[in-house]
Amino acid sequence: MPFNIEISERLKQLPPYLFVEIDKARRAAIAEGRDVISLGIGDPDQVTHKPIVEAMKKAVEDGANHHYPFDAGVPQLRVEIAAWFSRRFNVQLDPATEVYPLIGSKEGLAHFPLAVINPGDKVLLTDPAYPAYQAAVAFAGGKIQYLPLKASNDFLPKIADIEASKDPKAIIVCYPNNPTAAVATKGFYTELVRVCTQKNIIIVSDLAYSEVYYDGAKPLSILEIPGAKDIAIEFHSFSKTYFMTGWRLGWACGNAQLVAALAKVKSNTDSGVFNAIQHAGIAALQMDPVEIEDMRACYQERRDALINGCRSLGWKIDPPKGAYYVWAKIPSKFPDSMTCAKAFLDLADIVVTPGVGFGKCGEGYVRMALTVPVERIHEAVQRMSKVLA
Ligand SMILES: *Cc1c(COP(=O)(O)O)cnc(C)c1O
Repeated sequence: MPFNIEISERLKQLPPYLFVEIDKARRAAIAEGRDVISLGIGDPDQVTHKPIVEAMKKAVEDGANHHYPFDAGVPQLRVEIAAWFSRRFNVQLDPATEVYPLIGSKEGLAHFPLAVINPGDKVLLTDPAYPAYQAAVAFAGGKIQYLPLKASNDFLPKIADIEASKDPKAIIVCYPNNPTAAVATKGFYTELVRVCTQKNIIIVSDLAYSEVYYDGAKPLSILEIPGAKDIAIEFHSFSKTYFMTGWRLGWACGNAQLVAALAKVKSNTDSGVFNAIQHAGIAALQMDPVEIEDMRACYQERRDALINGCRSLGWKIDPPKGAYYVWAKIPSKFPDSMTCAKAFLDLADIVVTPGVGFGKCGEGYVRMALTVPVERIHEAVQRMSKVLA
């Protein structure tokens, strides 16, 4: 008799990972020989900066880096992260207890609920949201309460909804936001810290897009808010800032007890980040910030090309404030975001992500990623005229 393999309930309860589905459709179109412009995936098209690659080469040659990493990472990396944090946010972190390297921020976000969530504990998530949070909470047995993000509230959750929620253990927020490209105001974060302190709610802040912003308006760290370090942990990433998505490097920082709890999960699941990659991370943090300006200028040019192009076709879209996504209300001729995305692919060979894939409240929107060269954006706009006519 064949062995009967039954996957776990926790896996069965997960929806299919959105980007895998989108990518399948994209691949099928490409296999048919079509010239597809993918505005679907949040992976920068540029390659990692030279000084980072050079530092990696040197570190790979050094046999001292070939062994298991230190649990808490290369001490110099933690020191450089704290120094960067102080320069960027004017927040002081203790490198020994308030900073911890991760195998990409997604790894930390995925493991963190195991550190603080008991089965049945309630976690507040925004709707829409980056899909990984939902899976992470579900794996820990947590129950999710969604907080709707609406354009009318600048895609921020309502403080009153948090205030009214019965005994949540934690809340996960992400600003600059994927997928809505909204940013958090100081007023919102101040209120969030106030209500979460009062109700004993752990704040998880995902700041993967801290350096992707427009018109010079720098996003805040929640740790800038007085009292936040008592209740918050923040997740940072090298991926988007330095074009390092493939390297898998990020960090958690903030409240020392929360950082230590995450470290305990990690010491039982992985053995840290390859030392050579940590040395590459040190080189990244030491890079002249001017280099990062070029990245922002590039996304700003693409953003303006897409927003202005769509506007010329009569499709009015609010420009993003942060992250490299455009969150666009679908043209009224389409009944829903899936139909809209399908029409873009079928009629114009353009991949956009249906908003409903990020949650029920994402219905009525599509997400377009600014991760293709500006000439391709111009080309995409031209093709869109066929879909929008
Ligand atoms: C890309 C992304 C991440 C993952 O970053 P890694 O450091 O590459 O794991 C986390 N959160 C959001 C919202 C993202 O878009």
